[in-house]
Amino acid sequence: MKLANYVTGRWIDGDGDGQPLLNAVNGELIANITTQGLDFDKILEYGRGNGSTALRQMTFQQRALMLKKLALFLLDKKEKFYQLSYKTGATRMDSWVDIEGGIGNLFSNASLRRKLPDTSFTLDGDFIGLGKEGTFAAQHLLIPKDGVAIHINAFNFPVWGMLEKIAVNLLAGVAAIVKPASITSYLTHAVVKEIIASKILPEGALQLLCGSAGDMLDHTISQDVITFTGSATTGLLLKSNPHLLRENVPFNLEADSLNCIVLGNDVKPDMPEWTLFIKEVKREITSKCGQKCTAIRRIFVPEEKLELVAADLNKALQQTIIGNPINEKVKMGALAGQSQRKEVLSQIQKLLASSQIISGSLDSISLVEADYNKGAFLSPILLLNEKPFQGMEAHEIEAFGPVSTLMPYKNIDEAIALAKLGKGSLCSSIVSTDQEIARKFILGAGNHHGRMMILNRESARESTGHGSPLPMLVHGGPGRAGGGEEMGGLRGIRHYMQRVAVQGSPGMLTSVTSVYQPHAPGKKSNLHPFKKYFEELEIGDQLITDKRKITSEDINRFADLSGDHFYAHIASTNFADTMFEKQVAHGYFIMSAAAGLFVDSYEINPVLLNYGIDELRFTKPVYPGASVFIRFTCKEKISQELKDINPEVPYVKGSDIPKGIVKWYVEIFDETEDPLVGVATILTMVRKKL
Ligand code: NAP
Repeated sequence: MKLANYVTGRWIDGDGDGQPLLNAVNGELIANITTQGLDFDKILEYGRGNGSTALRQMTFQQRALMLKKLALFLLDKKEKFYQLSYKTGATRMDSWVDIEGGIGNLFSNASLRRKLPDTSFTLDGDFIGLGKEGTFAAQHLLIPKDGVAIHINAFNFPVWGMLEKIAVNLLAGVAAIVKPASITSYLTHAVVKEIIASKILPEGALQLLCGSAGDMLDHTISQDVITFTGSATTGLLLKSNPHLLRENVPFNLEADSLNCIVLGNDVKPDMPEWTLFIKEVKREITSKCGQKCTAIRRIFVPEEKLELVAADLNKALQQTIIGNPINEKVKMGALAGQSQRKEVLSQIQKLLASSQIISGSLDSISLVEADYNKGAFLSPILLLNEKPFQGMEAHEIEAFGPVSTLMPYKNIDEAIALAKLGKGSLCSSIVSTDQEIARKFILGAGNHHGRMMILNRESARESTGHGSPLPMLVHGGPGRAGGGEEMGGLRGIRHYMQRVAVQGSPGMLTSVTSVYQPHAPGKKSNLHPFKKYFEELEIGDQLITDKRKITSEDINRFADLSGDHFYAHIASTNFADTMFEKQVAHGYFIMSAAAGLFVDSYEINPVLLNYGIDELRFTKPVYPGASVFIRFTCKEKISQELKDINPEVPYVKGSDIPKGIVKWYVEIFDETEDPLVGVATILTMVRKKL
């Protein structure tokens, strides 16, 4: 059977017989794949012209809801994927990370809608005033690129590898072309088949290539983004493609990484941290058969504890049940294929130049319901390198399987230096209860890592583990790890959007950005803005309030009511050595008085609630006798779907009321009107009319 490619709106078989894909457990043929004969230029054009164009016309809110719908759809189909995943050699637990972890990325990116506007682009940073009179200003914007995201993925996570990446480019408004690694592409194919059938994504938003990438990269343009996950050798080959260099096509590289763990020298065998350390290392060596880019490859322990750690790790690893992953007792399945086993064995041979095997065997292994000669099985291998500053292999060679090297260190400075010998890693962990040791390690080795974890009895209960990249955290590392970066919540979408600094008058910037910019003209109306429904409100709707005189009695009463008797608010204070001339009003009183001025009536109106204040600043003291008034402007509107619980106010009832979030820009003036005495952004929920 040949697996078709999904390109230019159709499932198309490549020419010829193609490459056979084999079951990692028993060597049986699963399918053949090939991309021979495909027109890659046409495929790229189709993605840009159809998928990306359609996505750019959608708002962040619509794109995020599309991701949520897709996540729910795929969750419903997950059993099908689990069954196929066994063939890659993965246990149910390994597949959970791949399948449900991948779907989790869709959910997580969908949730980012609460931080994003209801437009196709977003603002980056704050408004920047560029003139004294407030007529010239700037705002950075992020606008979706015109191109496509091309994802060339590694074989180890055929589902997660695709979903964690497309979740981000789809949210950003850019279509994807996914080229999974051939060896496990049948699983990616199965997921894409469901996605396409669901019709949840606009046509062209996702294309799939099973087989070689052909000459695709030679047809890319600078609006495309290439992400590559795989070996450093292939990465270097691809990123040095002259066409990419000439056209300045963004290329995000994630490659080999010699991640490490450090046992703090405060940890003794009778402490819970000792057990946590042994468990963490064992899990990282055996889960996914060690085929994780984040797996622990280097283990650093205080030299006086080397022997004890070696004995405990050996004992733990010996207990691993290896074999056919369909059997529930099996804790470690197979490598993705026999070619992979050959590759890992050859890397171990190189590591042996400066180390010896202290646990596991290269040729004998006891298997449950599996045949060593048919499947790609390997026992967990623990190596010992007693002179880690002399034998460099462990710091330079990645055996992409259940392989790790134990090494001694004398003090924390040595542990930092050893961690850095990896020349840049995705992640590193330290197990310690000593705050000084942990701090020294993080600050000393942090510049060589993308993510670091401090593990001890306090964090263990909820720890997500050394090897788990999370959608809200950045994944990637400097140097050897490729220098790329992905995920990281909102940080991720920036790779697929162009940052542009837009300059102009505040009024013009308001109309371009759909967010009210300071100094822009407001829109006056006879109707109080709180009487308008969500749909009726316009950005720039503005109210100038009456004035209120602030008295010493007001300040005294606020001090008594709130209990805030800070000396500056007390009239009898000797102000000679203070920042103030005399008794000054509490900033919070001025803010409360502001609400008294801009809030309209006792009657129920479309404003459902006020749930907070952002960026509140008190910029000038208010003394008794001053008269304050407010300029109150509708700053931004974000529509919400029904039952969309706002995590900032999850406790309110009535989440099924049609509504949206409205942000109001509040400027507080005194009678001089210059400068402002305070400024804030108020957050409200406003009912929709519908
Ligand atoms: P690989 O052999 O370098 O392949 C990676 C991807 O590149 C595959 O899709 C492969 O396709 C493709 N490829 C190979 N040659 C190509 C070419 N000339 N033009 C276009 N595409 C080409 O790596 P792998 O064996 O799949 O993955 C294992 C490596 O990935 C390990 O070193 C691991 O550390 C690294 N990795 C890193 C991360 C990370 O986030 N940093 C994550 C996972 C894995 P074919 O399969 O069709 O050859």
